[in-house]
Amino acid sequence: MTEHGTITRDTAPTLTTEQIVSVLSQHGYRTTAPRQTVIAEVLRYHKPFTAEQVVADLKVTEPSLGRATVYRTLEILASVDVLTRLLQPDGHSAYVVGAPGHRHHLICSQCGVAVAFTQCPMDELVSSLTRDTAYEIQGHMIEVFGVCPGCRAA
Ligand SMILES: [Zn+2]
Ligand SMILES: [Zn+2]
Repeated sequence: MTEHGTITRDTAPTLTTEQIVSVLSQHGYRTTAPRQTVIAEVLRYHKPFTAEQVVADLKVTEPSLGRATVYRTLEILASVDVLTRLLQPDGHSAYVVGAPGHRHHLICSQCGVAVAFTQCPMDELVSSLTRDTAYEIQGHMIEVFGVCPGCRAA
């Protein structure tokens, strides 16, 4: 039996700019001023966001910041696991901020707010797939969709 993971109910970002800067430096990335601007921006979102949304929002407040810088910074943040890519109910992909570590998301199909959870039911399946197929399993994606309490009440 595997231990049940915790369910993180906070929908607000659980990381601070300082924590993200520290994760980046552990991976050898310098936090330049433009990157810091992108980090501050992604921490403002309270639901999954797209790269295009970040580009559009920063165009208003930081017109000098290039689109390539935004995309590159988001890629770096995803590569050090402080951003997770997930699929939204409409099939488009989006990012969500979270502490590094294995996690999945429950996403409201009406308002898009996501709840992270670390409970993962895949261990047994991964073991049997490895045994039966001889693949080296590298990862998996699980997204759970539903209607949040706020939307259910509306
Ligand atoms: Zn909702
Ligand atoms: Zn998992």
